[in-house]
Amino acid sequence: LAPPVRRLHADPRLLAPLALADFEAINRGERPLPESFNFAGDVLDQWSQKEQTGERPASPALWWVNGKGGEVKWSFGELGTLSRKAANVLTQPCGLARGDRVAVILPRVPEWWLVNVACMRTGLVFMPGTTQLTAKDILYRLRASKAKGLVASEEVAPAVESIVSECPDLRTKLLVSPRSRPGWLSFQELFQCASAEHSCVETGSREPAAIYFTSGTSGSPKMAQHSHSSLGIGYTLCGRYWLDLESSDTIWNMSDTGWIKAAIGSVFSPWLQGACVFVHQMAQFDTDTFLDTLTTYPITTLCCAPTVYRMLVQKDLKRYKFLKLRHCLTGGEPLNAEVREQWKRQTGLDLHEGYGQTEVGIICANLKGQEIKPGSMGKGVLPYDVQIIDENGNILPTGQEGDIALALKPPRPFSFFSEYVDNPGKTAATIRGNFYVTGDRGVMDSDGYFWFVGRADDVIISSGYRIGPFEVESALIEHPAVVESAVVSSPDPIRGEVVKAFVVLSVPFKSSDPEKLTLELQEHVKKITAPYKYPRKVEFVEQLPKTITGKIKRNVLRDQEWGRT
Ligand code: ATP
Ligand code: MG
Repeated sequence: LAPPVRRLHADPRLLAPLALADFEAINRGERPLPESFNFAGDVLDQWSQKEQTGERPASPALWWVNGKGGEVKWSFGELGTLSRKAANVLTQPCGLARGDRVAVILPRVPEWWLVNVACMRTGLVFMPGTTQLTAKDILYRLRASKAKGLVASEEVAPAVESIVSECPDLRTKLLVSPRSRPGWLSFQELFQCASAEHSCVETGSREPAAIYFTSGTSGSPKMAQHSHSSLGIGYTLCGRYWLDLESSDTIWNMSDTGWIKAAIGSVFSPWLQGACVFVHQMAQFDTDTFLDTLTTYPITTLCCAPTVYRMLVQKDLKRYKFLKLRHCLTGGEPLNAEVREQWKRQTGLDLHEGYGQTEVGIICANLKGQEIKPGSMGKGVLPYDVQIIDENGNILPTGQEGDIALALKPPRPFSFFSEYVDNPGKTAATIRGNFYVTGDRGVMDSDGYFWFVGRADDVIISSGYRIGPFEVESALIEHPAVVESAVVSSPDPIRGEVVKAFVVLSVPFKSSDPEKLTLELQEHVKKITAPYKYPRKVEFVEQLPKTITGKIKRNVLRDQEWGRT
């Protein structure tokens, strides 16, 4: 092992292209974590130097458009200058200090990236939230985190004002808007007069950098706290081998600013590789605008939730000629094999699925160049050793269903969340023996590929059989009548619980006879999966309940079935 270095960029070699190799080595366990690390100083400012020496292509670091003529292109150098100004806004007029938590509730505007980097530079703990949060959600987050600062856009200002009196810890409210508003500091005004001189704080590798809320698919979102190195170094391999990024690439990652996927796909992984982050601030998702964007801009790499691909494959994709697209990714929810196949058939491109969590980042992925097994979420990825275990923490043989878990050796892996804030009980409950338990069920095959069965809570037990909803949903979607579906357990006097499918129909089938179509879908599932898995009950619905991140909330439908509120 190489000797520990105190601060990575204090190591003269790191001004050379070695930096990334060192980050890779840390992820492979071949090099220890340095004591100090700061993504802004140790990564972004290095790319800015490489820009000056011509070692990086002249493409922007951030390329933002809004579809209404608005466009921003910042080099790493410009991002550096502007984020130093933003850092001075947060510390001086706002009076925030290292370690303070800052809630940042902004849509996909360039200022989100500025404030994010400014928090790194000043050691503030960045706490993003989507603008779709209600006043009640914002209150929960501000109180639970004891946030000292809040940066928000105009559309959430009224919701904030309605609850702010109940947040005694909140000292500063900063508004990102061309207009001023009583009771708020104006980011734009302060930014104009802020100095561009700022020296980046030397943060500890394990010092808290951000709090990401989980999606809340199975209950209230949990506050997962991450360190500077878990986010800033932990996504090195993922950026290089899953997202397949190099400094000449441009990635469009669709996720909202409030979730870890924005950190993975729109901040850390691409910027570690020196790639360009492309952002389209669409007011509302719309497939035509989406597809036009791919034909207009030189986007090489696309990452969206499975639900987006499910919508896109309903269109005639052959009509579109994507300018530069060469690598497509998805994650956050299981991707049905049928959708992958349709995407490939229509665009000629493979879909590389990844499986991960807010808490620990990417766990499994279909890395570039690896054979894809349709329906599988790929192999376990470094720095993790992914296993399937039983309820006693024993590793199960391949082919057997169990809990997806990560093997642990002390110290706690640097790429892990440090804790659920103020919830030691929940943090401790994720550990079983020598494993971190994801809460998801799956199977590993003899080639080391993982197959998702479902969230542990979503698995249905009917007449003694365990049935994973994903397999039934994937069978259903192979029928042309089905756009998407949610499969949950439903009470039954004889069997205890049975499989019930909530189905969203495609347009040509909307007026079909429901009874006939139910029988047809049941027969279809019986042909594709083991017959005992077929949905004994089918209900046709206009839409499925989803989280803001677009994930199906099966627990809402299940509670409804079982008469629970
Ligand atoms: P909460 O923990 O609040 O209920 P959540 O688990 O949905 O919400 P996230 O951390 O955003 O919050 O999502 C991680 C979960 O998403 C995983 O544990 C898994 O259940 C699901 N997931 C992510 N990627 C995939 C995938 N490729 N295939 C199947 N499931 C996935
Ligand atoms: Mg979770």
